[in-house]
Amino acid sequence: MFDKILIANRGEIALRVVRACREMGIRSVAVHSTADSDAMHVRMADESICIGPPSGTDSYLSIPAIVAACEITGAQAIHPGYGFLSENAKFVQILEDHSLTFIGPSAEHIRVMGDKIAAKDTMKKLGVPCVPGSDGGVETVEDALAIGEEFGYPVIVKATAGGGGRGMKLATSAEEMPTAFGAARSEAKSAFGNDEVYIEKYLTRPRHIEIQVFGDGKGRAVHLGERDCSLQRRHQKVFEEAPGPAIDPDTRARIGKICADAVAGINYIGAGTIEFLFEDGEFYFIEMNTRLQVEHPVTEGIFGVDLVREQILVAAGQPMSFEQDDLSINGHAIEIRINAEKLPGFSPSPGKITQYHAPGGLGVRMDSAIYAGYSIPPYYDSLIGKLIVHGRDRPEALARLSRALSELIVDGIDTTVPLFHALLQEKDVLTGDYNIHWLEKWLDANME
Ligand code: ADP
Repeated sequence: MFDKILIANRGEIALRVVRACREMGIRSVAVHSTADSDAMHVRMADESICIGPPSGTDSYLSIPAIVAACEITGAQAIHPGYGFLSENAKFVQILEDHSLTFIGPSAEHIRVMGDKIAAKDTMKKLGVPCVPGSDGGVETVEDALAIGEEFGYPVIVKATAGGGGRGMKLATSAEEMPTAFGAARSEAKSAFGNDEVYIEKYLTRPRHIEIQVFGDGKGRAVHLGERDCSLQRRHQKVFEEAPGPAIDPDTRARIGKICADAVAGINYIGAGTIEFLFEDGEFYFIEMNTRLQVEHPVTEGIFGVDLVREQILVAAGQPMSFEQDDLSINGHAIEIRINAEKLPGFSPSPGKITQYHAPGGLGVRMDSAIYAGYSIPPYYDSLIGKLIVHGRDRPEALARLSRALSELIVDGIDTTVPLFHALLQEKDVLTGDYNIHWLEKWLDANME
């Protein structure tokens, strides 16, 4: 087992990894930019080291700075969290060349799954059902129009290097195709430096259902059920739950097995998430994330496992601590993402937190790195905390969420907390009757 792990991240996820390390008796090293000297992950880790100026590019995304930090501190392994370098195959390759262990999958698996066309192709061959659409990249408007004709509108043009909901444009008719195609390409070029796009049938009322998988790198893999992350704003998740209100045990077992077999088939190591759209009882693969997800705590809640601990175990060459038959679902969990943003426009709201009180009690987990007196820097993303609740069933989890939200105090900045107070009054949220377009429609009618 490792003696020391460096965490190449910040905020709540860095703290989350520090906690797992401490429980395992492993020393943790926090890295930070000059803007984060006072951050909670720096205070909680056993050691810390400054790796650069505020800009993410020059600090949390700087491969030389992070490798140097490992050498200086003697860390043997790196946990990347999510975002930043977590899905950067070049980074993983460099670590391998420096005999440092990346706590995550191989560079090769990251590369394949990071290219959405290659990912779809791989998944199709492994027996995973995919969204109908172009076979590979689409280079000209004429080809795009032909595909629109073949599959029928609406279709969605997507960046093969896409992520974070960017580089995706809807075309509802042939007339809209030239604009959608051009816009998706130029957005992809500026966001990812790669303008390759592909086209999929646009599903009009699917749920976003993702399957948590976990592999030991030696051909053994399990699934840990699904998460329903359909409540999204601009293709970004805001509310996630497990189990999914629309998924029954047989459906879960069927898709779960397909996913576990697929990752076992490629000797995948560590945590991964296979994302699907789910409509009329059918699953359609959209992408695989080769890392821990923001919403992993809902899965931890219902299965009672520590996914970060398991990531560390398999990265150190040890077996995972469960087999498929050991995994059973207990109750229901919900996560909400709390952002430092001002409603109704969701504009960033960095600044000083004057008061903070975290909710507690049975079944309540607050994953956050804020504290009273902390100033949220303007340089990074706006997630300031995740409130996760667990109950014996969905109604109990919802009641607990409502109660926990009523205890939460974050003063001094604007947050998205009022959005959740409002959503918890909505019948469709209370009954779980929503799809990926529900929240956008609700926001149009109620907020933006
Ligand atoms: P990203 O990597 O940018 O997050 P994804 O491929 O995971 O992109 O898609 C993100 C979200 O965009 C999905 O959860 C869904 O809401 C929407 N989306 C993607 N593909 C389709 C599709 N074919 N039809 C309808 N909605 C889609």
